Amino acid sequence: MMKSDLNTGIRYLKGVGEKRAEAFAKLGIYTVSDLLNYFPRDYEDRRNTLQISKLRAGDKVCINAWVSSDIKTRSPRRGFSVTEFRAVDETGGVNIVFFNQKYSVEKLRAGNRYFFFGKVEERNGRLSMTNPTFESDDGTRQKTGAILPIYGLSAGLSADMLRSAMRMALSEFSAHIPETIPEDIRRKYKLAHVGYSYREIHFPQSFEELEIAKRRLVFEELFILSLGLMHLRGRRDNEHGIAMKDTDFSAFSDSLPFKLTNAQLRVVGEIANDLKGVRPMNRIVQGDVGSGKTAVAAAAAYLAQKNGFQSALMVPTEILAEQHYLSLRDELAKHGITCELLCGSMKAAEKRRVKELCKSGSVDLLIGTHAIISEDVEFKNLALMIVDEQHRFGVRQRASLAAKGNNPHQLVMSATPIPRSLALIMYGDLDISVIDELPPGRLPVDTLIVNDSKRADAYGFIKKQLDSGHQAYIVCPLIETEEDDDTELRSVEKFCDELSKTAFVGKNVEFLHGKMKQKEKDAVMRRFVSGEVSAIVSTTVIEVGVNVPNATVMAIENAERFGLSQLHQLRGRVGRGKEKSYCILFSNVTRFSTAGERLSALKATSDGFKISEEDLKLRGPGDFFGTRQHGLPELRIASFMSDMKILEAAKKEAAKIAEEDRGLENPEHIRLRERIVSMFNVEENKNSFN
Ligand code: ADP
Ligand code: MG
Repeated sequence: MMKSDLNTGIRYLKGVGEKRAEAFAKLGIYTVSDLLNYFPRDYEDRRNTLQISKLRAGDKVCINAWVSSDIKTRSPRRGFSVTEFRAVDETGGVNIVFFNQKYSVEKLRAGNRYFFFGKVEERNGRLSMTNPTFESDDGTRQKTGAILPIYGLSAGLSADMLRSAMRMALSEFSAHIPETIPEDIRRKYKLAHVGYSYREIHFPQSFEELEIAKRRLVFEELFILSLGLMHLRGRRDNEHGIAMKDTDFSAFSDSLPFKLTNAQLRVVGEIANDLKGVRPMNRIVQGDVGSGKTAVAAAAAYLAQKNGFQSALMVPTEILAEQHYLSLRDELAKHGITCELLCGSMKAAEKRRVKELCKSGSVDLLIGTHAIISEDVEFKNLALMIVDEQHRFGVRQRASLAAKGNNPHQLVMSATPIPRSLALIMYGDLDISVIDELPPGRLPVDTLIVNDSKRADAYGFIKKQLDSGHQAYIVCPLIETEEDDDTELRSVEKFCDELSKTAFVGKNVEFLHGKMKQKEKDAVMRRFVSGEVSAIVSTTVIEVGVNVPNATVMAIENAERFGLSQLHQLRGRVGRGKEKSYCILFSNVTRFSTAGERLSALKATSDGFKISEEDLKLRGPGDFFGTRQHGLPELRIASFMSDMKILEAAKKEAAKIAEEDRGLENPEHIRLRERIVSMFNVEENKNSFN
């Protein structure tokens, strides 16, 4: 094995082997590098060694003492053992008790000296330690007298095993971890050496040194993230895009079946203004569910087509793509604008036809799922890319779409407001538009909180809605079970079955969940859209953007398990038509619990922006800023909330490097480039580095 190769499989580490490697794999650790980057989630300070005379009940401390009595083990019951003895030092003695540790205590010998670490308790008036960690006093101790890292573990992998593998990896490899941060930046910000940082983050000698190590690793992570994002975005401030002419869109807005709201008009105006500039547009439109983002997207595509350019609209699901296609096709056709749909599940011949049209330039607006970023889709002159429900896409997918054109203008649409700090790093020179007004005449959705005593009535009410020809969504939470991750799916299926035999007898009820094939899911949704299915029992897979105006009930089981923003999104699926709609939250929590407050907050307001603020307050930043949600790579050590200062510095330095050496071809930057590739899991192709 090459000592310098951090990609060495974990099973080649001494003491790991094939079997244990499987347990590591469960934690996503396959290579030495993965292991070294598996950071502790906490630390325990075991440095404090006290004389026994100084012990007090409640202390968690180390003592250095010898076993001064016989070691007696008894078994009062089958499968239960108690081991007891006395340990003394020069100042006093304590009782040591072990429960069910028959085998590990076999190593202890009366008369020998050990370090014991544990919590001191008072039992029957005497001080004692229960199940302490112990090690011989022979100069090789690792678990006592030090700050110990605490790692997340998996079945088949004990804390001791993980720590010993980590020690092994550090001692053999820490000298070979490549330094990615350029020397001058390291000096400027006083960042510690890479090898030192990895050693200290895992086995810190002091909390001060831990901080130094952490600061460096946080900087590094945010630096690589920023630089990677800059590259993936594939554009700089000084790049030139396609400047369009000043274009009047009144013909388009006049032809719509409704009058655009002032907010929509303002946002379209902002977009029109961007399109005129040489600097490519990079704008996010934030608007609550139902605020009419689709019409804004259509207006943008209209402007592009009037200037002779193509647009693309990418959405996260086939059903949504189809809906956008159906609602925009006729609207745009009035103005001589051709729309086509491209989805993965379409027939090959059909896809080929659409791709040819797209390549030849006969399609003005291509609507589709991520199928439109697949390699063989080519545009003649793509000038505008629109991404709907952006939080469902990764940064990478947006970058791939951008690479299909020549610095196309980018417009992303979101129903979830993104905090400014996150927006800045995700989009760099991002501009934000807000649609802060709903179309007039919307009937507010009645929100009801229902406990078990009223359950039957509520289902009776829903049945009446179905009888009068309306439709309903019944949403069940995704219950995560450790062992069997199919339980909840069966529960959706079972619940659906139950409802069709009881409350909804005679109605066509179908289920929908994330483990179904995309094709099956789309088929169910299509039957729902067409009205063939009256009620859908599902997990939150229906959360995103579908529009079924005839659906008047959103019923949510165990509503207390959902986040506030998520509940709001779900509620946004109803109240889209002319009929009064209802959101029924089934829950038995009291009004005064946190979950109860969440439900009351939802009942009290229909303003999505207020709701996100409230959500942030109630949930705390940790959950809200989950990077996954925003399509960013997972951060291992840094946090957007607590590391803002470092983020700014890292971003500034990344921008400088991106400017000096855009391809990261300078030998000094090779390591950086490798790290970016692995962080973003990208192929090193022309899309990411050009
Ligand atoms: P979202 O912002 O959630 O994507 P949509 O674009 O799907 O919202 O719009 C929701 C509904 O509102 C659609 O049926 C759309 O036709 C309608 N709509 C959009 N703008 C207006 C408007 N200005 N006046 C009336 N109805 C509108
Ligand atoms: Mg939408």
